[in-house]
Amino acid sequence: MTNVKIIPSIGKDSLFVKAYNGYYILTPEKKIFLGNKKDRTCRFCGKNSNETSFKMKAHIMPEFMGNKKYFSYFECDTCNQYFGQLEDSLFNFAGIFNTFSTIKGKKGYPKFKTKGSDFQAKEFGTIVQKNHDPKNEDSFIYNEKNGRMNINVTMPAYVPQDVYKALVKIALCMLPDDEFPEYSNTVNWLMSENSSEHENNPFFNVFRKIGGNPTMFPEPIAVLLRKKNCKNTHKMPYYTLLLSYGIISYQIFIPFNDYDSHLVNEDEIIFPIQERVVDKIYVDSKLSELGVDKVSLSSIEKKKNEKHKASVGFKITEDYRDPDK
Ligand SMILES: [Zn+2]
Repeated sequence: MTNVKIIPSIGKDSLFVKAYNGYYILTPEKKIFLGNKKDRTCRFCGKNSNETSFKMKAHIMPEFMGNKKYFSYFECDTCNQYFGQLEDSLFNFAGIFNTFSTIKGKKGYPKFKTKGSDFQAKEFGTIVQKNHDPKNEDSFIYNEKNGRMNINVTMPAYVPQDVYKALVKIALCMLPDDEFPEYSNTVNWLMSENSSEHENNPFFNVFRKIGGNPTMFPEPIAVLLRKKNCKNTHKMPYYTLLLSYGIISYQIFIPFNDYDSHLVNEDEIIFPIQERVVDKIYVDSKLSELGVDKVSLSSIEKKKNEKHKASVGFKITEDYRDPDK
């Protein structure tokens, strides 16, 4: 069995910074359309405009993340619909943290209902808690002292492998044309039915951090990072995707590409984790430990009633403190 080493990396001289130095980045300064408008061929099913339609606006990442700027010309309507289904799981996977990200989607700010309260954002950075029934509420403990809320809620249902597919799809959109052919196995897996044969595949994880970063992301930012090809990076995957929106940051490694085919025979695979996804644990205001929240996404079974604990700091409106409002 392959040994898997997960290395949280912080600082300018960290392993991550040394190993992953090439990148493609999507930042919301202006609208971006990837691909060729005139010669339409779908990157995912391979059909051209004679064989399928390209009427819908294809988002590189979902609208619920606040994406109003990144689109592509290489995703046909049929594939667009299929990815929409995968993105439902990606949305549910973040559950209440979408609401706490205070990002306006197609249908306004996402609501989140619990046994004791309803939550919805009023504007970016402000959450309103309604119908608060303190007798029925043990999921939200607000700490007046540090202005943070400790949360322990039941998350909506999601299919883990769909979540992973929805994230990998974003990375595949960002790849340049000349490298895309190396990812034909990745595309084949993305477009086929979920399979339980990937249960022991160490790539099928997401590393995530919720809250805890100094900035929130009103619009998503995605960075696809390529490793430096040298002896020291031999045991690391070729590409990793770093994606942030609202209060959420994710990192994944892109599976099944030809550049990584040698990894199967290695005794060890190394996953360096970027600083934005690393939890820094302080004791007496001194950094004492680095942590990484790793969630397995190999399962094809729908996950229901999963509990999630987190601590978030944000502006609380009066509505929260006065349950009568
Ligand atoms: Zn297609």
